[in-house]
Amino acid sequence: MADASSGNFGCQRCWPVSPDDAWEARAGLSHQATLIDESHLIASVLGCPVCSQRFVSVFIETVDWVGGDDPQCWVQLPLTPDEAERLTREPVTEADLHGLGGGRRSLLKGFLRGGVEKCMWTKGLSIGWHD
Ligand SMILES: [Zn+2]
Repeated sequence: MADASSGNFGCQRCWPVSPDDAWEARAGLSHQATLIDESHLIASVLGCPVCSQRFVSVFIETVDWVGGDDPQCWVQLPLTPDEAERLTREPVTEADLHGLGGGRRSLLKGFLRGGVEKCMWTKGLSIGWHD
């Protein structure tokens, strides 16, 4: 049972202990809404089919004009029912996403320059994150 007040979100399946497992579990989430769809920033709402926990997922690609080996990263943050409701009701800007989550645990998956991969827990939604 998702309990926003205690800081526990999701279930074993969608929000497991290890970040690698959480990244794998992401493939089992259902797409619920697209909030922002730009070439280098995509934000969408995903939902767990088991516990109905909703997440906001943000994809960022940092353009590297020199290389072409553009770093990419995803940040996935569980939402309270209120937040999910608000995000899917009104047009969303990058600034709206910025304020979400605060110190809440979120998942960061990054593909950086030189084939370096990162998968780790972080906090909140850091839009424009790069290494
Ligand atoms: Zn779940």
